Amino acid sequence: TKLLKHAETQSLQKPVIVDVKSNTSHSYQNLVSDVSSFRNNLLKKSFNQNLNEKCVAFLCPNGYDYVVSQWSIWSAGGIAVPLCTTHPQSELLYVLKDSQASTVITHPDFYDKIKDVTKDAGINDLILVGDKNEKYSDFDGINYKAPSLIPMEESRKALIIYTSGTTGKPKGVVSTHLNIKAQVSSLIEAWRWSEKDRILHVLPLHHLHGILNALTCAIYAGATVEMLPKFDATEVWNRWMSPERNLSLFMAVPTIYSKLIQYYNDNMSDELKPKATESCSQFRLMISGSAALPTPLRNTWKEISGGQILLERYGMSEVGMALSHEYDKERRFEGCVGLPLPNVQVRLISEDDKDVTNLTETPGEIQIKGQNVFKEYWNKPEATQKEFTQDGWFKTGDIAIITEKEKVYKILGRKSVDIIKSGGYKISALEIERVLLSHPNILDISVLGVEDPEWGQRIGAIIVLKNKDVMMDLNILKEFLKDRLAKYKIPSLLKIVQDLPKNAMGKVNKKELIKLFDQ
Ligand code: ATP
Ligand code: MG
Repeated sequence: TKLLKHAETQSLQKPVIVDVKSNTSHSYQNLVSDVSSFRNNLLKKSFNQNLNEKCVAFLCPNGYDYVVSQWSIWSAGGIAVPLCTTHPQSELLYVLKDSQASTVITHPDFYDKIKDVTKDAGINDLILVGDKNEKYSDFDGINYKAPSLIPMEESRKALIIYTSGTTGKPKGVVSTHLNIKAQVSSLIEAWRWSEKDRILHVLPLHHLHGILNALTCAIYAGATVEMLPKFDATEVWNRWMSPERNLSLFMAVPTIYSKLIQYYNDNMSDELKPKATESCSQFRLMISGSAALPTPLRNTWKEISGGQILLERYGMSEVGMALSHEYDKERRFEGCVGLPLPNVQVRLISEDDKDVTNLTETPGEIQIKGQNVFKEYWNKPEATQKEFTQDGWFKTGDIAIITEKEKVYKILGRKSVDIIKSGGYKISALEIERVLLSHPNILDISVLGVEDPEWGQRIGAIIVLKNKDVMMDLNILKEFLKDRLAKYKIPSLLKIVQDLPKNAMGKVNKKELIKLFDQ
């Protein structure tokens, strides 16, 4: 309905999606018509007019056809299950099987990749979107009745996003249209989205960050989304620095900002650099999230962008966004993620089950309530039940404190992998990572708890060096940390690696990484 409201009230000719690479622009009018006809295709070909809460998986490149697929599934009453374009076939199969999708939509670009997987999952319906010969063949632009097009009942299940699998097998997070509306409305209010906005979208579209924060918010707000097929530092800088740009928003994960900085430093001539810096000043807002934003990265970004201070936020597939720096206040609290977003209830519960939200510097698990909170894990009633308290709060598994000085939330990490239990202490891996990243020769880091018979766990650091010719060992590391961290927080194990493996969202899988210490 929201899409239509915009289509009705805004200029229908206004672009909703611009595919940057092919320089094609699609208006809200195109979208409404194409959704209408593709929805009819879907219903005719596969559902016999009954797509009621059935799962439809779709694998499309970032671009217009992705959006047509997603809204067509919604418009037909189905549950959209976005697939990750870079996942190997085994992971695609896992999602198809787990979601019990009845139909798969794909784009010609991915047909070969998904064809056999679809068969292996026992799915007969594989439908093409964006095929040049068949494209929206039922298109009937004159007769469509806009208001009856997308009847999105709020209680209906709308979307399954698979979690990153950082702490175990990915789980399907089911959100209803009401959940999505609540998540989107909160962000539109907090971040001041409007129809004047224009965002350059470079994030994967199988994960909340890209789907909700960037894409769906933009469409709900009646804004314009410029899309790149995937993140590429050259393309992003080129787009920013092109003369006709009028972008207002950018969202990314920390690794993307770090790649943009690397490109600026290594590939840009001294003449171009001021132009690049100037191009950043057009943005009213640049946002970072999905993983902790390292302070050196935040500072370097401020320098090269002519003073842009990244707004950091915290959220997860299950709840959308929960905490965010305030839009119009100074974002000076490094390592902190701000305050609860509008209409999101947040509390901190200590290990002995006390509400410590009103205390400072006292760790507790972040728990969340509100219409933004998801409905259930797909086909996992026990897991769903386990993650909620008796009085209906969702237990995020993330530990945080409220800082003494600024009274804002600071994330200490996940209970399962980031809180290290050593010699009776509970130590935040993120805190140690933050400090080590201020070392001049450390480019990237992951700190983990390594099982140990004597200490329970020992603190292990895995680092990537900036300059491999500069000497680094455990003693040098300890010396550096001596005056910066309490003794019990200093790592006693060290591995130096070429690179930290990260998933599509720039997250390290600590459960995998820890195996390095077995060798
Ligand atoms: P899984 O649930 O499968 O283990 P995951 O939790 O990584 O994977 P997501 O829902 O994609 O899957 O990620 C949400 C998590 O990302 C949060 O629970 C939190 O741990 C982390 N996170 C998000 N934003 C931030 C941030 N600004 N700072 C630190 N951590 C963050
Ligand atoms: Mg999680």
